[in-house]
Amino acid sequence: MEIKRVLIGQEKEFFVKDLSKDFHTQFGFVKAKDLKKKSGKVKTNTGKEFSILESSFIDAYKKIKRDAQIMILKDIAQIIVETGINHKSKVVDAGAGSGALACFLAHHVKEIVTYEKRKDHIKVVERNIESFGLKNIKIKNKDVYNGIDEKNVDLVTLDLPEPWKAVKSASKALKNGGFVAAYVPTVPQVSDFVKEIEKNKGFVYLRTVEILEREWKIQGRIARPKNQMIAHTGFLVFVRKV
Ligand code: SAH
Repeated sequence: MEIKRVLIGQEKEFFVKDLSKDFHTQFGFVKAKDLKKKSGKVKTNTGKEFSILESSFIDAYKKIKRDAQIMILKDIAQIIVETGINHKSKVVDAGAGSGALACFLAHHVKEIVTYEKRKDHIKVVERNIESFGLKNIKIKNKDVYNGIDEKNVDLVTLDLPEPWKAVKSASKALKNGGFVAAYVPTVPQVSDFVKEIEKNKGFVYLRTVEILEREWKIQGRIARPKNQMIAHTGFLVFVRKV
């Protein structure tokens, strides 16, 4: 069932799928008839107030089914801005994992093919694609280290343990000026990937970045960074085919 409404409270957001039943939270419940509203405010039976909205892509995205560790939004955003991909772009992604990155990119680009070697992960990806109603994404149950079938690709994203093994495949698939964005959690992986890129005359190394996002608590004069943040996800290495 699709998410239909979002309830935004001071401490928490809730996602409502079934508008025919009262919606229960730890702050009390919102009556079914109030959930029909598409904007404004609603109150729970205990008097807690929530803003109510019709849901959009990003709300559904926040509830994406996760099996493999997914790439998080701050890192996806960086891939989009570094490579400038848009509604005309063709992308190849590997490995699909839970399909989080692939589904997010599918929302922006013309077409995306995602490679995944594990059948159990593919099942999760299929469910996620279906829940978003995405039509421009294809899954291939293949090892990306053995090759990429697509040609004239604008971007290859590599979120897997040994991205250097996919450099040759990526080189054949990419158009001139196309990008590879490799996402790895450790520095030795960055070094091995860049070493392979430097051996391959068909690529130019651009840069490696780590994105730190610090969220702030703003509540009247309590205006300060939140106590906790995600300390580390991965390094993004960008290279370009020449
Ligand atoms: N970016 C994904 C997460 C990827 S997790 C997301 O946002 O959801 C890494 C995935 O790569 C795992 O599912 C793993 O099975 C897959 N994988 C690892 N090596 C691979 C290879 N050589 N070819 C295809 N898939 C591979």
